[in-house]
Amino acid sequence: MGAMVQRGNGQVIRLPRGASLADFADKIDANPGALVQVVFTQLGEMVTATQSCTDETLGLLGETLGYVVSIVSPEDEDKELLESFDVTFGGEYGEDDDLQPRPPVVTVMGHVDHGKTKLLDAIRSTDVVAGESGGITQHIGAYQVRSMIEGNERPITFIDTPGHEAFTAMRARGAQVTDIVVLVVAADDGVKPQTIEALNHAQAAGVPIVVAVNKIDKEGADPQKVRGQLTEYGLVAEEYGGDTMFVDVSARNRLNIDGLLEAVILTADASLDLRAPVDTDAQGVAIEGRLDRGRGAVATVLVQRGTLHVGDSIVAGDAFGRVRAMLDENGDTLAEAGPARPVQVLGFTSVPDAGDNFLVVPEDRVARQIAERRQARERNAELAMSRGRPTLETILERMKEGEKTQLNLILKGDVSGSVETVEDALLKIDVGEEVSLRIIGRGVGAITENDVNLASASDAVILGFNVRAEGKARELAEREHVDVRYYSVIYAAIEDIENALKGMLKPIYEEAQLGTAEIREVFRVPRIGNIAGSLVRSGTIRRNTKARLVRDGVVVAENLTVESLKRFKDDATEVREGYECGIGLGSYNDLKVDDVIETYEQREVPRV
Ligand code: GDP
Repeated sequence: MGAMVQRGNGQVIRLPRGASLADFADKIDANPGALVQVVFTQLGEMVTATQSCTDETLGLLGETLGYVVSIVSPEDEDKELLESFDVTFGGEYGEDDDLQPRPPVVTVMGHVDHGKTKLLDAIRSTDVVAGESGGITQHIGAYQVRSMIEGNERPITFIDTPGHEAFTAMRARGAQVTDIVVLVVAADDGVKPQTIEALNHAQAAGVPIVVAVNKIDKEGADPQKVRGQLTEYGLVAEEYGGDTMFVDVSARNRLNIDGLLEAVILTADASLDLRAPVDTDAQGVAIEGRLDRGRGAVATVLVQRGTLHVGDSIVAGDAFGRVRAMLDENGDTLAEAGPARPVQVLGFTSVPDAGDNFLVVPEDRVARQIAERRQARERNAELAMSRGRPTLETILERMKEGEKTQLNLILKGDVSGSVETVEDALLKIDVGEEVSLRIIGRGVGAITENDVNLASASDAVILGFNVRAEGKARELAEREHVDVRYYSVIYAAIEDIENALKGMLKPIYEEAQLGTAEIREVFRVPRIGNIAGSLVRSGTIRRNTKARLVRDGVVVAENLTVESLKRFKDDATEVREGYECGIGLGSYNDLKVDDVIETYEQREVPRV
């Protein structure tokens, strides 16, 4: 063992997930090189000093050296990050918190085609307040309706993305958004696989369920059967002595939607204590985000506690900004938004992800720093993932990387906001795993010779937003054939790159059947071999196309070629359905009467 390493005495050292030996060495005041040696000789692993190690390696190394290694999870790390700025996210409410009742937040789930979207539309139109002005018009990812229940106006918030994908994606990120699940089951179709899936997700999250038995207007609708079926999954209707409310509705005919809303409120009142502080800095979850042509990054957030105001400094995941304006689902501007209120926020410098927690912080600087630290952490985590220990899998992965098509970009813009927004949006383009996009340079200001040199050295494309390459830089770009593209709209750039990436994708091929022919007679032709006297059953048989031979429904030969094709005595290039012909499959001679010759070609399939 390296003499330079001081043995520990069971001290605990804390390391973030994906830490390197250099990080470890730093904590125990040792030489990183010595740790590399220890890991190699004691654990039989080759890692460099700066390479990320697995939890296991760090733990074993600690054990070897007499330390207890505690790996700090990303969640804890984030908590510590916030604490270092004197802010906290979430947590239990204390004695001193002035808690006010808040509306329930509802997600609609159920099997495909059972009417989730229709139901959300129907509910949207019931809003007693927006009703007069024509109802809710904008899709912002969530909406709130107010209905009269037992003489009181009661708001309910609906997440406007039906289905359990969004629900689980948010839960996976640690965001608990939903208080109640409305499980939609079509009365004419009954319980289906996704009904069960949705139910399992809701139950796993401990969220109460209200069952909307939909399509009761349809012939063959059997709402009682749905009740019976769901009993098996522990959802017993109240009328059968259980505690789940079942409501029969027709989303199409807007029948009994009020009854459903009432059931949601009653269920919330009976089984949940929905309260939140109002007079405090807002916190919550981002539920939708996108880049808008004119307005920049736009995000819908759901306030979970406190009140969000215009002018607040806000951070959501690794995005930050200051609330410039807030809009509700009617497109009306709001000055503030309290608990359970979904609002569209303008003013982020980049787009947060759905499920990112958001919180208001005392000043812009704090928001920016938290976001930047999170960005850095994410980059490190990604690096750690891409490095790791060289196993057979990672070696194979890297070999595959060699075939990878990569697009390098350099971004220049007039303001840093636009560069960040573009970078963010570009990195979110999903084009599958075969191609990748790397931003190798970015900055504010005109395109310089330096940018052009970097681009030509690494085959990169330069994107300029409201900036140009002038004088020498322009000449250099022309001489070096560097592709410089100018944009004034961010959107146009993203569209271009997206298309470019799609163009770089290797084409997908699909087999297309051309024709089939049934063998009626086999002719033996000296020196040439066997010829299949056939009747074309479908499509056309063409010379020089690929063929396979099928006997009694089983493929007996693959990868053959139609080498000769004759109509009577004459050569033919193609023979259509209903005609007889002689087909020669080259040296392949095992032909039998009633065999079927299938011809096909590989066609490129356009990507969607
Ligand atoms: P989703 O896949 O669960 O979002 O289902 P949709 O809301 O798209 O509805 C699927 C189909 O069922 C559509 O053709 C709707 O018009 C129809 N549908 C939805 N609700 C009702 C209903 O209450 N009655 C009838 N008859 N059809 C409905």
